[in-house]
Amino acid sequence: MGTVDMKDLVAFCKRKGFVFLSSDIYGGLNGFFDYGPLGVELKRNIKTAWWKAMVHEREDIVGLDSSIILHPNVWKSSGHVDGFSDPMVDCRVTKVRYRADHVFYSPVSIQHEVLGYVCVVDSGARDAEALKKAQHLRQQVNRSHETLDPLQLRPLTEATMEEYNLIPSPATDKPGDLTPPRAFNLMFSTHVGAVATDANIAYLRPETAQGIFIHFKNVVDATRVKLPFGIAQIGKAFRNEITPRNFIFRSREFEQMEIEYFFRNDETLWPDLYQQWIKVRYDWHCSIGIKEALLDFQEHAKEDLAHYAKACTDIVFKYPFGVQELEGIAVRGDFDLKQHQMHSGVSMEFFDEAHQARYVPYVIEPSVGVDRIFLALLVSAYDEDEINGEKRVVLHFQPAIAPIKIAVFPLVKNKAAIVDKARALFKYLQKRWYTIYDESGAIGRRYRRMDEVGTPWCVTVDFDSLENDTYTLRDRDSTEQVRLNQTELLAFFAQHLA
Ligand code: ATP
Repeated sequence: MGTVDMKDLVAFCKRKGFVFLSSDIYGGLNGFFDYGPLGVELKRNIKTAWWKAMVHEREDIVGLDSSIILHPNVWKSSGHVDGFSDPMVDCRVTKVRYRADHVFYSPVSIQHEVLGYVCVVDSGARDAEALKKAQHLRQQVNRSHETLDPLQLRPLTEATMEEYNLIPSPATDKPGDLTPPRAFNLMFSTHVGAVATDANIAYLRPETAQGIFIHFKNVVDATRVKLPFGIAQIGKAFRNEITPRNFIFRSREFEQMEIEYFFRNDETLWPDLYQQWIKVRYDWHCSIGIKEALLDFQEHAKEDLAHYAKACTDIVFKYPFGVQELEGIAVRGDFDLKQHQMHSGVSMEFFDEAHQARYVPYVIEPSVGVDRIFLALLVSAYDEDEINGEKRVVLHFQPAIAPIKIAVFPLVKNKAAIVDKARALFKYLQKRWYTIYDESGAIGRRYRRMDEVGTPWCVTVDFDSLENDTYTLRDRDSTEQVRLNQTELLAFFAQHLA
């Protein structure tokens, strides 16, 4: 079983046409990525799987597609204009900018005597790097023979002012080189209309959720839904991240899939619904092929929750750079609807016939990024193995997720009858499933190319096919080949590709 390192994965994604650096020929634009011919298919399949499971296969969720630029008052009411910010610090010497909660520091001590501080950027190698720096500090003060107390890494945001002056910059390792943290609003702003003034400022949405809340009333009136029910949306979101990093994991333009699931404002109801949603979303990630061994949960501590939130759990994934949030499931109470009710003057109350009561419902929000799922799927599917003594890279994508479902090959390209038969089969399959036709190179190399991009099946048309109308069907994972006639072949695909 192969594990993948990020540098190799980024190179692989470019080489195979999954992900390119945005504006590549101009040197790229930090925090922006483009999806190539295979990436766009994979992304669409993720979104389709989510929409199918969360909207079409449920009776209690409907869809929405709101605009990216909303009335600026939406973001004032939601609290984003005043509060959607991250703490930022700069290294005065190197000019490198950090998100303060992504930088960790620890006192370095021997038997509680503090020798100084170490400071590192969060990563999978964070602890090892901090220890190395601590050992270096110990050496500088000539105490190498003594045992260090265990390090206690904490985010920079928890440092006291006193400590702050003693903490070195992670870039220079010198105390005093970091600026104090300051709030940086993550929303991209623009102007609507011909003249740019403060009066026509607008924002690119930093989440799709607010577009759902502001249409709560419209959806209720248009669909006659009954509580509990949800509204789902997939769409682009933009955040001017201070330090976009880890490839598509943290970018400045990304895609979200969010559900606002509304229910009666009864305190006894949310704990069960919350647990149900955590399970529904966890099971869904497993169902599309994210490796369960790499998934986990992290419940937020009560003291870390926003004032209006009742509970929040992250579904986390073990990425090559560390365990990080894949999806958040938050119980948000009635805060959002009440804010919009107060600022817009439009009632967000729901008339609950069953309970003969009128109230603003509570909401649970499962919110996930398509790009983070994309990366988790690649990490889960990536493998290197050996077939008959030959090394191969293979992506074990599930058929529903695989960018290409079937590849059709003529065994040779210089026999017109074989080529014609292969083209005819390809044209037929292409109408039902995303199929490609490939006649270049030795057949073994064509199989490898398809393994590398996760195509579950290849069909080869050979001399026997001309005789008896049978084809070779090759399975990506087992590499086994079976001979099927056309009816059997189509029945096989119909069964395995919904
Ligand atoms: P983080 O703590 O990692 O910055 P967050 O808690 O701010 O994430 P949310 O606001 O809860 O994230 O957004 C919901 C989901 O949107 C996240 O779980 C993640 O999958 C996705 N997401 C958020 N920010 C980004 C980003 N910059 N790039 C890609 N996906 C993102």
